[in-house]
Amino acid sequence: MSDCLFCRIVVGEIPADIVLRNDDVVAFRDINPQAPTHVLVIPTRHFATLQELSAQAPELTARLVDGAATVAADAGLGDAYRLVFNTGEAVGQSVFHVHGHVLGGREFTWPPG
Ligand code: AMP
Repeated sequence: MSDCLFCRIVVGEIPADIVLRNDDVVAFRDINPQAPTHVLVIPTRHFATLQELSAQAPELTARLVDGAATVAADAGLGDAYRLVFNTGEAVGQSVFHVHGHVLGGREFTWPPG
């Protein structure tokens, strides 16, 4: 059994509110939402960080970003959403299976905290 939380969500060992699934990508609602829409988009294959993913599987990186766009469109966000990849513990990455946060449905400020 994998000890990676998101790998376990991919195979259904841990329940999640899944909104998109295909061979490459799974998207599910964040358990601690920071916006009316807050969905995590992950590759089904394990990569710890965005750097690892983009270096080792650039086509999959593109499909992950495309999955985020599909999630945003399905949520009715149009082209107004934020896609965040925390990369590294120092900037807040807590789960080391790469994931994009799709956030939308409220006003956002810049720069982020
Ligand atoms: P990050 O801090 O960028 O690594 O983001 C990890 C995210 O995973 C956080 O926003 C958590 O709320 C979320 N999270 C942790 N466990 C779960 C879970 N079991 N189901 C859905 N989201 C989760």
